[in-house]
Amino acid sequence: MNLWRRLLCTARRRSPWLFHMNSGSCNGCDIEIVAALSPRYDAEQLGVRLEGSPRHADILCVTGPVTRRAVRAVKTVYDQVLGPKAVVAIGSCPATTNVFIDSRTLDGPLDKHLPVDVFVPGCPPRPDAIIQGVAKAAEILAERGLERTADPSTRLRSGLAQDDRDAANEASAGVQP
Ligand code: SF4
Repeated sequence: MNLWRRLLCTARRRSPWLFHMNSGSCNGCDIEIVAALSPRYDAEQLGVRLEGSPRHADILCVTGPVTRRAVRAVKTVYDQVLGPKAVVAIGSCPATTNVFIDSRTLDGPLDKHLPVDVFVPGCPPRPDAIIQGVAKAAEILAERGLERTADPSTRLRSGLAQDDRDAANEASAGVQP
């Protein structure tokens, strides 16, 4: 591996940039993310930075139980994060849909739609647990960067690409949409 790739992996591990997406949460977890970035917990001192665009982020942090309306947006945002990337599910909602489990407005949990790398349990999780989850995701991201090759089979699964593959499979099987 060349020096440039090694430098990139070190930078990813030491300074992960996050994009936060709310997929229908009650805002409890979102407030804890903000608290993790506040001076009291000071995740920014560890190099963690919240970005305004998924295109600038390495890690996608998702809160909420994934409502039907949010599914497409979650997949689109996931596709906009450039690889290598990692997904952190923050709170019990994206992991299990939590207390909303029987709601007909939901299409969760999150790992039904995206490959989730780290689950941070809690309702809501404490800011230090969120920081720990992000640090774990940064480690996974750095390893993923080391493993990454030009081989398309090693690329991460994409939500929208999966939909396209499903549609193609249905079409080839003669199934009408
Ligand atoms: S895990 Fe709890 S605090 Fe977080 S979004 Fe769900 S209900 Fe709200």
